[in-house]
Amino acid sequence: MPETGDGSPAALSAEPLSRLTGAGPRVAEKLAARGIASVQDLWLHLPLRYEDRTRLTPIRALRPGEPAQVEGRVEAVERGFRYRPLLRVAIGDDSQATLVLRFFHFRAAQAAQFKVGARVRCYGTPKPGQHGLEIVHPSYRLLDEDDDAALGQSLEPVYPAIEGVGPATLRKLIAQSLERLPPAEALELLPPAMLRGLGLPTLREALLTLHRPPRDADLHALDAGRHPAQRRLILEELLAHHLSLRRQRMALQRHEAPALSGERLAARLLEALPFPLTGAQRRVFAQIRVDLARTSPMLRLVQGDVGSGKTVVAALAAMLAVESGRQAALAAPTELLAEQHLANLRGWLQPLGIHVAWLAGKVTGKARAQALAEVADGRAQVVVGTHALMQEAVVFHDLALAIVDEQHRFGVHQRLALRDKGAGGRYVPHQLVMTATPIPRTLAMTAYADLDVSAIDELPPGRTPVQTVALSTERRPELIERIRAACAEGRQVYWVCTLIDEAQDEPGKPAQAPRIEAQAAQTAYEQLTAALPGVRVALVHGRMKAAEKQAAMRAFKDGAVDLLVATTVIEVGVDVPNASLMIVENAERLGLSQLHQLRGRVGRGAAVSNCVLLYQPPLSAMARQRLETMRQTNDGFVIAEKDLELRGPGELLGTRQTGLASFRVADLARDAALLPQVREMADALLARSPAVADRIIERWVGGAARYAAA
Ligand code: ADP
Ligand code: MG
Repeated sequence: MPETGDGSPAALSAEPLSRLTGAGPRVAEKLAARGIASVQDLWLHLPLRYEDRTRLTPIRALRPGEPAQVEGRVEAVERGFRYRPLLRVAIGDDSQATLVLRFFHFRAAQAAQFKVGARVRCYGTPKPGQHGLEIVHPSYRLLDEDDDAALGQSLEPVYPAIEGVGPATLRKLIAQSLERLPPAEALELLPPAMLRGLGLPTLREALLTLHRPPRDADLHALDAGRHPAQRRLILEELLAHHLSLRRQRMALQRHEAPALSGERLAARLLEALPFPLTGAQRRVFAQIRVDLARTSPMLRLVQGDVGSGKTVVAALAAMLAVESGRQAALAAPTELLAEQHLANLRGWLQPLGIHVAWLAGKVTGKARAQALAEVADGRAQVVVGTHALMQEAVVFHDLALAIVDEQHRFGVHQRLALRDKGAGGRYVPHQLVMTATPIPRTLAMTAYADLDVSAIDELPPGRTPVQTVALSTERRPELIERIRAACAEGRQVYWVCTLIDEAQDEPGKPAQAPRIEAQAAQTAYEQLTAALPGVRVALVHGRMKAAEKQAAMRAFKDGAVDLLVATTVIEVGVDVPNASLMIVENAERLGLSQLHQLRGRVGRGAAVSNCVLLYQPPLSAMARQRLETMRQTNDGFVIAEKDLELRGPGELLGTRQTGLASFRVADLARDAALLPQVREMADALLARSPAVADRIIERWVGGAARYAAA
């Protein structure tokens, strides 16, 4: 591993932007707002894409979806107002074909430029329109008759826009930053032999290639993120994140946790349960038991499909804390879910003489004061609650085990807030986090490198798998009959409305998802109420007050409502075993993991359950595959792998879930194949060159890592 002396990247990275011309205080502020604070950050502000302006494409040769540069003369101009302002400019060229340029946002002066016969050069991605191919909002310029209009000499990088900094300014700043790139050896942190082995360039070469790709660069590889220059950066970025998580874990393990053990209470709980544990539950509890017996803090993620029985495993873990004379806390993301846990835990634990306290937003006044006192003096052996558990006012007597359910719904900071409630700062509590959103193994390695992962990969016996069908929305009337029949038999039904994306194809229109979704649910509620006299219908959507939402959910849970019309807000963890039919509208718009979570609301009782995925034809290839996957399997792990393959990790791993800063160049779905390599490199670096590991973290993750480790 080469050690670098002065002029090291670490030193250079601190070089302030003010050294560059054109980066005055105003510009610097705008850049800082986007996380660009140094010259080095500019190197890593990479182009979003490239435009090949080195050639012109005849209009006849244009292909939908393939960006191209075109030159032609204006043949016709139409200005109108159909729902909104509209400008359409038809241009033609020597290839005797016509292309339409379409604008929704334009100024009058801009529209006036387009005169019949004017020469226009434009760049954009054609797609099929009403009258042949069209480009919506192309970049364009009008050429004078005598303009020789030379073509570009290299691929033109298009940078992600930064508010308040024009593209030309940004380009100039980046060009200056590149002039300050140190020689390859000084910049490089990865072992040269390894880079050669992988056929990857040095960091210096990679950066230069990406900012100034030569004319013959492989544009397809660049667009796909598979160019060696990109892979070089991706590798280092993934490595940095992985190292950062490993470091955090090492830091955590330097703290001391109370060793928890004992056989008696867990055994008594197991005896009292009306069911035996599944093999998977037993295995995972055994793993937890080993962790808890240690004096270094456990940090374990339990993944288990919806209905796999995570709660009981959490309760068993809590028994070890209680038997050791300490406290356990269980936090859930919604009040309803937390109440469900409270009812379960009290049902199981009170007969064992264990006191379970309750803290949630709605616990106020005397009840809250009482609960806080019990938590503080240790009378509360187990505490169940919502975010309210994480508030400052909550002081534990001796918190030894912090359990967080559906942890992806909490922020990492909240998890840490609960962790920091360990007894008097001497101990860090053990942490158990649970999720029903399985993470494919490959991802777990990077996203959760700081956690041990256990899987409850088996459902309790006697569950009948949910039968899933996909139906075109035209067959909606048949469903009304089916709902009537199910309700007549005393079954309960979910009707889930998802976003109807009317905003499609309208650039610049603000997202209105919650409103549109709520409206859709309202409409469905009215229609279903009218169509199903005698059926008790309730409505839940995200724009209702929390109390109203909960009242409706509770009525459904209590059997006072037969049909619950809801938006996707019902996704998380609610257990209504009597609900055995679910209809999901516009199912084609949802990702696999979301569909799977939704479907997990049914199939919790003994009755055969059905899930109907209603879709709006025609289906895209991707949507078809998703629905097909849902039809074929109920296995959350299979679905997670497929989801990753189809859609990428965006939804699987929000930053909320992982605490990872978002990646600059990496894309976990696309780049998952690099992860084994990443792990191997990390092992080697941590063992042999920890200082280099730190510099890699510093370069890519920087202060974020320090915060999370704090
Ligand atoms: P999740 O993993 O989705 O949180 P829960 O813990 O809510 O699942 O369990 C779902 C249901 O299955 C609960 O009613 C629970 O009592 C029941 N259950 C849990 N473990 C078993 C088991 N081993 N055998 C039978 N039923 C079980
Ligand atoms: Mg649960």
